[in-house]
Amino acid sequence: MSKPDISRAKSAALYEKAKTYFPGGVNSPVRAFKSVYGTPLFIEKGDGSHIWDADGNEFIDFCCSWGPLILGHNHAAVREKVTEVMQKGMSFGAPTALENELAELILSNNRFIQKIRFVSSGTEAVMSAIRLARGYTKRDKVLKFEGCYHGHSDSLLVKAGSGLVTFGETSSAGVPKAFADETIVVSLDDKKALQEAFEEFKGQIAAVIIEPVPANNGLLLQTQDYLDHLRQLCTENGTMLIFDEVISGFRVGFEGAAGYYGIQPDIITYGKIIGGGLPVGAYGASAEVMDHVSPVGSVYQAGTLSGNPVAMAAGIAQIGELLKPGFYDSLHAKTAGFVNDIQHFVDERGYTVKIFTIGSIFWFAFTDQESITTAEQIDPNSMIRFKEMHRELINRGIYLGPSGYEVGFISAAHTSTDLETTKTAIFDSLDIVF
Ligand code: PLP
Repeated sequence: MSKPDISRAKSAALYEKAKTYFPGGVNSPVRAFKSVYGTPLFIEKGDGSHIWDADGNEFIDFCCSWGPLILGHNHAAVREKVTEVMQKGMSFGAPTALENELAELILSNNRFIQKIRFVSSGTEAVMSAIRLARGYTKRDKVLKFEGCYHGHSDSLLVKAGSGLVTFGETSSAGVPKAFADETIVVSLDDKKALQEAFEEFKGQIAAVIIEPVPANNGLLLQTQDYLDHLRQLCTENGTMLIFDEVISGFRVGFEGAAGYYGIQPDIITYGKIIGGGLPVGAYGASAEVMDHVSPVGSVYQAGTLSGNPVAMAAGIAQIGELLKPGFYDSLHAKTAGFVNDIQHFVDERGYTVKIFTIGSIFWFAFTDQESITTAEQIDPNSMIRFKEMHRELINRGIYLGPSGYEVGFISAAHTSTDLETTKTAIFDSLDIVF
């Protein structure tokens, strides 16, 4: 039976006020709960796997701030390191030893990059990586894939996944045609389209950018064969392959998707987990490629708050935890068990649901297809079922990101009790939805 709706009186009042300050009442569009039931929940605090909203409702959280919180909320190691560093000042705009410390942790445990540059968001990381690829190859065109999101920089907001699809758009207004013209878009998992694009724009493509684990338009897992083929085509054409690992980096393993698939990209971008919940992004490559960046090379990129000491501290603490033996094995095993139990339940009931998963990422697809590898395979009508499920789950104390195109994340803080409670809530919700 459907549960009564939780009280949202305080969240609703805050939202009314927020609408007078911010477009749509939010500072990032998908937060507005436009494609799910009710007003957005205003969150007051988080601890471990749980969050509490302004009305005092408690939830088990599978959004995890859209991915950064792989250790859960308010993790002691992160909190303590940040508190210690904050005592000495917030920002200097000069180098600090903390930048070295975070770089050392990453570079000495990652076979795919030799040098790194810290920035303050995933968008900035990708934007800078694209500029580097263009500067390095002296070419202008960039090829991206339909459904992959790479942040909100101009030339990449074309057919860019959840944030846009959730609102029924595929591209943003305000992107000059001349910029969009430099962006070639092809479908994922389509070797022929890729081949044709390379033939049509021979010698002109600076970079191919891909989320090697596309997780912004559902979870569109690619085959090893396709990713290997992409690598090979880029090499043959003198095109740089950029892995946008803002989600997959430090998530599907310490070395991200590059390590998972064993593929050497030319540039890798990071965000989310790298900052432990504070604003950090990064891009990295071989020393030879990175030395094209200013002040050594001629590709300019800078940032007032880049390498901010407090943000570095959060990154150091979080990344340090991920390097502990067995971290990923136990997180992945926990996720696989959770997903298997739900899949087993829906299969027994005969419901048309498939849960796609990799590492500690999962996505509910309301479909009977065994695999979904392209954005075009997702039926927009299936989102109606997600909307109903989301409402039932919220009313049962389970918080998923407010869009059926978004993936869920499991953190190290999710306990077996959390996952049992969540499974029961999902089973009851699906029984209502179907
Ligand atoms: N790239 C990918 C793959 C992302 O998922 C995101 C954000 O969700 C970005 C880039 C942009 O990162 P940010 O939101 O930190 O600017």
